[in-house]
Amino acid sequence: MTAFQKTRRILAGAAALLLSGTASHAVAQEARNVILFIGDAGGLPTLNAGGILANDKPQSLFIHSMPYVGLSDTSSLNQWVTDSGAGMTAIMTGRKTNNAMVSAVPTGQAGAVASVKTFLEYAEQRGLSTGVMTNMKIWDATPAATFAHVGARKDKDEIFRQMLKPRFGDGVDILIGKGRADAAASFAKQQTTPEQAFAAAGYRYGEDTAIVRDAARAAVLRDADFAPIPAVEATIAQLARNPKGYFLMVEWDMHTDDPKKGLGHVREMDEMIRRISQIAGKDTLFLFTADHSFGLRMSGGTRGEPLAGQYDAEVAKPGVTDTTNDVISVHGGHTGEEVIAAASGPGADKVHGFFPNTRLFDVMLSAMGWKPEK
Ligand SMILES: [Zn+2]
Repeated sequence: MTAFQKTRRILAGAAALLLSGTASHAVAQEARNVILFIGDAGGLPTLNAGGILANDKPQSLFIHSMPYVGLSDTSSLNQWVTDSGAGMTAIMTGRKTNNAMVSAVPTGQAGAVASVKTFLEYAEQRGLSTGVMTNMKIWDATPAATFAHVGARKDKDEIFRQMLKPRFGDGVDILIGKGRADAAASFAKQQTTPEQAFAAAGYRYGEDTAIVRDAARAAVLRDADFAPIPAVEATIAQLARNPKGYFLMVEWDMHTDDPKKGLGHVREMDEMIRRISQIAGKDTLFLFTADHSFGLRMSGGTRGEPLAGQYDAEVAKPGVTDTTNDVISVHGGHTGEEVIAAASGPGADKVHGFFPNTRLFDVMLSAMGWKPEK
């Protein structure tokens, strides 16, 4: 063996040792970032129908490929069937609360509530960057439960006020959602405009998601839908500049009062998660779940021909509607059965079996190596 070969062999051995060391370390490694995806009303039947409608194959979504899966109970403190307020509060704070409450719990005294610290606030307090993106209104209960504390989800003036008066850190760094006209009305009551109020708090404010691209802090409020992938790519590019890490919550509405629209959103969010999985680092915990399920069911359909065509043909029949037909039917609204929680990345292995939705708060916290405060 020449000296060169010998050196090369030693180097190769050292590299293998290093690699195996890295690999075993990677398993135990803590997460630097957490991305929480909420399919709002995206229960198992909705994922099932949404996936088949999109691909004419079962279990064909990216979500279906996530390695750790559990079933999360969504019941609230006072109801078997939750609303988004109590459902998201449980995930963000680890506490069950009454329906319509937002990251606040009843104190026992009539009408009084106490604020409960959210995972986003834990992140802000520790200097991480944070983002909230939704295709619903930014003050709606699900996004609000990441940063606001109110006893009644309809209190949008107070939710907008708290958006710019954070209890920890400097508040949500990147906000993208709808409700532009609502923001104007709410800030008018404080004798200001969203433009002035967000600028004073250090945000770039606008209607175009492209403004996120060169702003460390941005608030994009719109009244119209937007393309999710460019928006989320720009958001992650900004948040990832923080060496301490980031927390991003993305909510996509999957209510299926209009089944085609809601199931289209399943595909849209799934493509977004697939794309983000390609750009977010391996030190990122991915968690997908729903705040509650919904009364949609696959009720029929023949394999071997596109489901979308079968649904359209069915709905075109006299006396048949888009929610009452033999292919995809909808009964009522929110429902009480467990929803899927699917995870990948550091800390994802804690997602398995049946558990209460409050467990997801613990999963995120322990992935970051943080202790819950009492
Ligand atoms: Zn909801």
